[in-house]
Amino acid sequence: MQEIGESPMGKKMYLVFISSPKNLDKLDRYKEINRKLALDWKLRDSERDSLIAEDRVFLLATLSMHSNEVGPTQASPQIAYTLANTTDPEMLRCLDNVVFMVVPNHNPDGMKMVVDNYNKYKGTIYEGSNLPGVYHKYVGHDNNRDFVTLTQKDNRVIAAIYNQDWFPQVMVEKHQMGSTGVRYFVPPMSDPIAQGVDEGIWNWSWVFGSAMAKDLSSAGCAGVAQHYLFDDYWPGSTATAEWKNMVGMLTEAASVNGATPVYIEKNEIKVIGKGLSENKKSINMPLPWEGGWWRLSDIVRYEMQTTWSLLRTASDNREQLLKFRNNLCRKEVAKGKTQAPAYFVVPLQQHDQSEMVALVNLLHEQGVSVARLKEDMVWNEKMIRAGDIIIPLAQPFRTFIKEVMETQTYPERYYTPGGEMIKPYDITSWSLPLNKGLISFEIPVVVDELDKKLEPVAIPFTLINEFPEHDNGYWVFSATNNESYKAAFKSLYMGLSVNRTKADLTFKGKTIPAGSFIIAGAKGKMVSVLKDSLTISPEWFAENPDTSSTPLLVPRIGLVESWFSDMDAGWTRFLFDQYHIPFTVIRPGDFAKKTFELNFDVVIFPDEDKNVLIEGKKKKGEEVYTADYPPEFTKGMGKEGFQKVLKFIKNGGTVLSWGGSTALFEGLMTIKISETENEEFRFPFTNLVPELKKSKFNCPGSLLKVDLLTNHPLTLGMKAEAGIMSEGGQVFQTSVPSFDMDRRVIARYPETKVLLSGYCQKEELLGNYAAMVWMRKTKGNLVVYGFSPPFRGSVPGVYKLLFNGLLLK
Ligand SMILES: [Zn+2]
Repeated sequence: MQEIGESPMGKKMYLVFISSPKNLDKLDRYKEINRKLALDWKLRDSERDSLIAEDRVFLLATLSMHSNEVGPTQASPQIAYTLANTTDPEMLRCLDNVVFMVVPNHNPDGMKMVVDNYNKYKGTIYEGSNLPGVYHKYVGHDNNRDFVTLTQKDNRVIAAIYNQDWFPQVMVEKHQMGSTGVRYFVPPMSDPIAQGVDEGIWNWSWVFGSAMAKDLSSAGCAGVAQHYLFDDYWPGSTATAEWKNMVGMLTEAASVNGATPVYIEKNEIKVIGKGLSENKKSINMPLPWEGGWWRLSDIVRYEMQTTWSLLRTASDNREQLLKFRNNLCRKEVAKGKTQAPAYFVVPLQQHDQSEMVALVNLLHEQGVSVARLKEDMVWNEKMIRAGDIIIPLAQPFRTFIKEVMETQTYPERYYTPGGEMIKPYDITSWSLPLNKGLISFEIPVVVDELDKKLEPVAIPFTLINEFPEHDNGYWVFSATNNESYKAAFKSLYMGLSVNRTKADLTFKGKTIPAGSFIIAGAKGKMVSVLKDSLTISPEWFAENPDTSSTPLLVPRIGLVESWFSDMDAGWTRFLFDQYHIPFTVIRPGDFAKKTFELNFDVVIFPDEDKNVLIEGKKKKGEEVYTADYPPEFTKGMGKEGFQKVLKFIKNGGTVLSWGGSTALFEGLMTIKISETENEEFRFPFTNLVPELKKSKFNCPGSLLKVDLLTNHPLTLGMKAEAGIMSEGGQVFQTSVPSFDMDRRVIARYPETKVLLSGYCQKEELLGNYAAMVWMRKTKGNLVVYGFSPPFRGSVPGVYKLLFNGLLLK
């Protein structure tokens, strides 16, 4: 058992190796061979064959990343015990051929919360109810949407196993799903699948999956479905390793209520999804489950059987799997030399230098080799400068590089010819340069001159070397860089004085735009603390370069987070922590409390259902559903609580609202002035999406282009256009305001070419409508966003639209 890192809340994370004693003694040697097979495309056949003869298959299992899916983690001690004590000759043979690597708990913080919550309510009427809040420090269930951007500490620990350290050939992540569907899902996945991933990976997923289905049914485990429901076109979860030449898989067991058994009547079984439409004997599920009791011990039984099966398949195919890994490495490198693109170029000079630095470090963490150009050169009449970042495609993880550096086109597949399209399961865009607002371009063919001028980038990559270290003076951080906001908030935290410039400054031929930050009063250790937390360098002035600049104060921020697994609020907390932005979490139920006052400058409503916020209940159509939480977690703001929000705006507060919560501010608003008098008004905007849907508008999660209003406090530091991640929920139309209101469209959709990356049906309907609107009511501000600015910590190109909102006056 090895300690491999720490969770976001400081719990130790472990990797356990289970194999024969002989193999365990040679782990270091196998590690070295695995790396060679994965990365060395120049291995001579003879050397490769002798390495394969010596090596073992490394099979990695990551358990229960979703902490309320407790079965896989809870099964792991039983599995380890059985394997460690077995005398079964077949199992011993498997353990001779395979090194089984287990992360027994992908998300130990969440598991502790879930288990504590279960024990708290055990024996009460709320036994087995869901954990209120997110089962993670920040992101809850979204932890499997993070493997391209690697923002979360636990995910980074796990990604390092296959990106940097062990290079296992096969991996499986183990989950649970709802309790009324099939009992167990095994690969292959459903369509659509990622078009760039090699056919061999998909073929191997059939081999492992079918063996699991067969072995489960011969052990009497009914209700196993394959080629069902779960598709595999988006890289977001641990199995993103498929893009890195690993056979990556997923299993899903039907859930119980925490650890409490459930009884399912036959008529309650719902088998509906891609690949199956009823609970009948079919080729994707030859042995249906007939209903009855379903217990945690059943999940454990299925987990054990699938583990034995995976070990057996890996063992039976040891040589082939090892060879496949090195073949694929050779194949990808060969494609990189013969197929376009041959390189991606990311120029050093970018609007946001800090995001360029972050991109380089992220790619390295993903196992990608990144180079830079040593001297200027011209290619095809295009100047490429010394210091520009070059990513050659002739490397083993080529598929991954292509996937994250290109723009995405959703692989449209249909159930029947001319019939219904298979809908995306999740978002359809994850292009790193676009999400970060960076310029990049491709070179289609290998250029010898370029290859000669490359040198590896030193990691961690940074542009901080020029940091002016002085005692006192004025450090100016350009508003174009996201990191400048971090410098500003960190400096405020350290008690330094921070001002924002009112006009553009010109210095050494460069323009430092309005809205940039002047930090003064730093000396000695403070300077080095600031420097150590940054990757880009500011300009330094002995005298204040802009005496008209306005002082910045730390805003008092209230962040509304419901108890309903509010992941978007969690991502907002994560973002704020990264940027040293202080905040207080407000629960919807707090608003209505008699003593509760909004002692804030800014109140934020992230993407949450209006009904959850107001009533503490979910609404589908006209039906209202109670949530699966004890009553103290299902309180909404109520009408009284919302009154406080409206009065807060009227009295000069700022409200930022995005996604579903924007519906709070649509329609007739009423502020009670006295017992007999009300002030009634409408904010000058409506959400057009219900109308647009009638015309078949559908945007499941794609990057859309918007034009920004320049010279506005909300767009300081931004370019004139940006890419927003729209999940198709809000498209705004403004109207001429009445009374003491005003409005400006901050971001508007262009008339053509709205879709930057992903899938969007009827994008042409969006032209000129608004993606972001600023409104004034009496003295306060309301800003509505038709997208989530902190979306999964993955679209930094729009963070400034949020940061500027926090600093609105
Ligand atoms: Zn899951």
